Order: sequence, then C-alpha cells, then structure tokens
Amino acid sequence: MNKALIIGSGLGAMTTAMRLASRGYKVQMVEKHHQPGGRLNQLKKDGFTFDLGPTFFSMTYEFEEFRKDVGLEKLPFTFRDLDVLYSVNFRGSDKRYVIYRDLDKLAEEFEEVEPNFREKMDKFLTSAGKFFHDTEYLVLKRNYDSLFQYLMTLLRVPVKYSPKLLRSVWSEMERHFESREVKEIFSLVAFFLGATPFDTPAIYTILSYTELVHDGYHNVVGGMYKIVDGLKKELDKAGVEMHFNTEIVDYKQSNGEITAMVDQNGNEWEADLFVVNADAAWFRHQIFKRKKFDEPKMDKLKWTLAPFTMYLGLDTKLPDHVPLHNYFLGDNFKEYSGKIFKNAIKLEKPYYYVNVVSKSDPESAPEGCESVFVLCPVPDMRFKPDWSDREEVANSIIDDISKRIGVDVSKHIVSKTVMTPVEWRDDFNLYKGSGLGLGHDLDQIGGFRPKNYDEKFGNVFYVGASTVPGTGLPMAVISSKLVTERITKKYGSVHT
Ligand SMILES: Cc1cc2nc3c(=O)[nH]c(=O)nc-3n(C[C@H](O)[C@H](O)[C@H](O)COP(=O)(O)OP(=O)(O)OC[C@H]3O[C@@H](n4cnc5c(N)ncnc54)[C@H](O)[C@@H]3O)c2cc1C
Repeated sequence: MNKALIIGSGLGAMTTAMRLASRGYKVQMVEKHHQPGGRLNQLKKDGFTFDLGPTFFSMTYEFEEFRKDVGLEKLPFTFRDLDVLYSVNFRGSDKRYVIYRDLDKLAEEFEEVEPNFREKMDKFLTSAGKFFHDTEYLVLKRNYDSLFQYLMTLLRVPVKYSPKLLRSVWSEMERHFESREVKEIFSLVAFFLGATPFDTPAIYTILSYTELVHDGYHNVVGGMYKIVDGLKKELDKAGVEMHFNTEIVDYKQSNGEITAMVDQNGNEWEADLFVVNADAAWFRHQIFKRKKFDEPKMDKLKWTLAPFTMYLGLDTKLPDHVPLHNYFLGDNFKEYSGKIFKNAIKLEKPYYYVNVVSKSDPESAPEGCESVFVLCPVPDMRFKPDWSDREEVANSIIDDISKRIGVDVSKHIVSKTVMTPVEWRDDFNLYKGSGLGLGHDLDQIGGFRPKNYDEKFGNVFYVGASTVPGTGLPMAVISSKLVTERITKKYGSVHT
C-alpha cells in the first residue's frame, strides 16, 4: 500500500503530496487546469503578472509546521510582513482609514470617530484571543470520527464562550464599539470567509486577533504564486509526478474501494488510495453522484459569496493614497449585506477590494505601469446564473474606482481580464461559482462539514476548503495535516 493519487493541485493538495511523499508514499497528481495552485493561481498577460485569487494571509506558523513535518531546511518562498494591513474608504467621503498593525498608530486613525478606541480594541482583541487559544487545538486542528465525537468536544469548550456561538460578528462589534466606521471596518473579516458579518458567528472575530496581534498579515516576496512555484520545485525533487489538463470525470470500484479514477479521455489512474482536492461537496455531488449531495440538497447548503474579479494592467502609476490593499465600501452596509447573497443588490454601487501588487512587487508590471486586481463579492449562480452583463458590471466598478481615487482608470487600461462566477466555476469546479466553498455557519463546520474521509469508499480522502477545518490558505495547510494523519493512521508510513 504505497501509491497515492491526488485529484487537484490546490494548496491543500500540494502540501498533502509533500507530506505523503516524505512518509514514503509514491504520489501522483492530476489537475484539470493547465498549471498547479488551484485558486492560488497566476495570470500572466500583456507583460503583466497577476495573482488570481489570494493576496494575503495570516497564521504563517502553519507553513512552518508543514516545513518541519516534511523535513525542509527552509520554506521555498519568503513571507513579507505587512505593517499597513489595508486602507478603507467609504463612498461619499475623502477620508481613507489606514489599518496599521501597530495598535497605537491604529488608535490615532480612529480617535476622532471612536473615543477610547485603544481601550475598547484591547478588550475586544483580548476576548477574541482567549477564545482562539482555548479552542485552536481543542476544536480546530483535529479530526473527528463522528458527529457525536465533535459534539462531545464542543462540550469541553468553556461555557463562558457560548454567547460567541450565538451572536453574529456584527453583534460582537456592537458590544465593543460605537462608531459605524469601526464596526464596519473590523467586521470585514466576515467577508474574508465569504459571508457577511450579520450571518457569521462571533467566534470568527478570532480573525481580527490573528491579523492584528497574533501573527499579522503577510504576502509573499515576488507575488503569492511563489508559494506554488516553490512547492512545485520541492515536489519535483521528491519525485511527485504532476499531470495537467487532466480532469477526473468517473471512477472504477471494487469491494468498497476505488481502484481507479477515470479522466476525460478515458484514461484510468490506478492507485492504492485517493485524495480528492476538488471541492469535497462538489466531488460527492458530481462524480460520486451521492443522494445526500444531489442538486436540491447542494442548493440548500450555505455557500460562500462568488468572486467577480478583474485583472487590469495600467500604463500609469497610481498615487500613494492607493496602497497595496484597499477596500472601497458604500454607505448602506447593512442593507447591502442583507441583499448581496440573493442578488437583490445594485452592482452599480458595488463594494469591492483593490490590490495593487506592483506596489510591493514592481516586477509584476512593466516600468511606469501598475498591476491591479479587483475583487467584488457577488451572488453565486444559484441566485444570478446569467453574467452576460459582465462588461456593464466591470465598467461600473472601474468608474467607481476612478471617482474615488481621482484617476480616470479607464483611460489607462492596456490589459483587461474579467472573471465572473461562471469562469471560477468552470476553471476550478467550484459549485455554482462560490469562491471559498461551503460557508462557515455553525451547522457546516467541524463534525457537520463534509468529512475528510469518504462515507462509502475506504480508500478515498479529502483535503481543501470545503472539508475540515475550512477555507483560506492556512486552513488548507491544516487540512493537509489532518488528512495525512488520517491516512497514516490507516496505512502507516511506508518507511521509517
Ligand atoms: C478570489 C479569491 C480570493 C481569495 N483570497 C484569499 C486570501 O486573500 N487569503 C486566503 O487565505 N485565502 C483566499 N482565498 C481562498 C483560498 O484561495 C482557498 O481557500 C484555497 O486556495 C483553497 O485551496 P484548496 O486546497 O481547497 O484547493 P483549490 O484551490 O480549490 O484547488 C483544487 C484544485 O482541484 C482541481 N480540480 C477540481 N476538480 C477536479 C477534477 N475533477 N479533476 C482534476 N482536478 C480537479 C481544480 O482545478 C483546482 O486546481 C481566496 C479565494 C478566491 C476565489
């Protein structure tokens, strides 16, 4: 028992492949896209380089844990600490709030709108931090063999935290802060999870703690895709074979085990065990055709918002008041949040995020130019299946940016690529274009999330955003740790 086939090559897959290879498994990977990385991908066009999805992350120590686990002397990429996390502008105002990691500087930014900001923020972060440290190992970083085991584990979480399970991120903000600006800005963490602060449990305020206190925010020198380039080199050294433009569409089984996965050309990929990095719910729905994951049931699940993304090459530099990471918010936060999932919003007044990667990595754009990534969370294709208005939506965002930064962006575009939920669905098999996979509602996390082992086939496992523990880059790395634990518990290491 030593041959593993991994389906997909996202971060969860690449880190699992390294972990298994370091334990003596012979690993092959098949990927439907033309290059590795999954959502952590890269677009090179017209002399510009763009990161396709992720632009920053926290919890770098999960990568360190991975490095030690696989016996690498150093990680094959370099983190960059961000002292300015991001800037935020509200529609109708010229003010730009700069979110510093340094809490004293941060307090200065908000002193006019939120009296005693520092005290209130300290209290808020202490509460989030205590919850984080009391649950990180107890609940988050572990496998569950049954729902019962998960529920029993929850009983061990100190009772004082129960209100955090019942409250939303927004109500937690209301308990600590008064100003609209502070409440809206620090509840943006819910959008990082692909939802809104009104429907995300308050436990996720731990993200504010990890970003401002515990580990901070980071990107990667040379662009986020350096993570994938670096891991690919290590996988090559470890003898892991990767096959691109290869999509698994079917399977062969015998005696309760999968014997081979079948690709779009009818080729059979045999192995002793299989790790699925395609979305864990989508694969059960689309490939295994499980009743529990049929379309009506999939549609009833809570999916994260879909991405509408743009990659703009500009033949000019943007002013200093547009730093690396920027959020542009409107003036109707509650109303917008309430309607965004269901396509009841007007996309001519969008809320969006702008990343100017050439500000930190100038080589991503030609001299005197800028590489700009725009991400606008939109309804998934259950609620808005038709994206034939893509140009209209793109132009309304470009007009809005232009007004708010004081540069007519449309006059400077020399490269433009738009991805709607349709392309995100088709390129990476994301269910109805949902960008971050399954949502993180209480009934969809831990023991309630699709498991990282298959219900029917004993030699099939899952890794990635829609299985445990959840979405985001550090979670994908934790997910690879959890699935490797499962596999080695069952099959052992091949050599010692
Ligand atoms: C627009 C956007 C912005 C984001 N920003 C951030 C951020 O700033 N910070 C952060 O931490 N996270 C961010 N995320 C989330 C992060 O990208 C994901 O959580 C993470 O990359 C998921 O990794 P994964 O291991 O689940 O694999 P995925 O990235 O989902 O990769 C799965 C791979 O499987 C392949 N595949 C699927 N089906 C098949 C099949 N049948 N056969 C063969 N191959 C198949 C897919 O093509 C894909 O390459 C963002 C996501 C998006 C979409």
